[in-house]
Amino acid sequence: MSEKKLISSVKEDYKAIIRQCFTNYLIKNGYRKTPERYAILDQIYAQKGHFDVESLHNFMKENYRVSRATIYNTLELLLDCNLIAKHQFSSSNTKYEKTFNNGHHHLICSNCGCVKEFSDESIKRIIQHKPLRGFEISHYSLYIYGLCAKCAKTMEKSSTAILNDK
Ligand SMILES: [Zn+2]
Ligand SMILES: [Zn+2]
Repeated sequence: MSEKKLISSVKEDYKAIIRQCFTNYLIKNGYRKTPERYAILDQIYAQKGHFDVESLHNFMKENYRVSRATIYNTLELLLDCNLIAKHQFSSSNTKYEKTFNNGHHHLICSNCGCVKEFSDESIKRIIQHKPLRGFEISHYSLYIYGLCAKCAKTMEKSSTAILNDK
């Protein structure tokens, strides 16, 4: 099998696992297995990064028509079965992202609110191997607050300007 083929078949397996998780959850809780719900799940797992309801709704429009109400409702289900996570990076800004196979951390700028992701294998390993009194981790998120490079630079400039004014 060529490498490209192998990668695409791994992707297909992974998609099947996620769909199976969702199916188990829907059955267990007596929810209907509607094609809209699976279309939303597929869309979320096909895209990268953080999204909000509005951007997901816009992406969906291109391939599959679903109402905002269905999106809200499905996001609640996906949160409940831990296939997505909800982030409140700032008070006005609710974002979601997939959780499965998506271990990364967030750098949040306290000044402009931008969010950058980074991955660090050593942090991941520490968390995975930490004995947590029998607690089983499904996913986690780590927020690191500070100033992004751009804001830090702007602030540095304005503080030297103030100094020079004196
Ligand atoms: Zn910033
Ligand atoms: Zn993220």
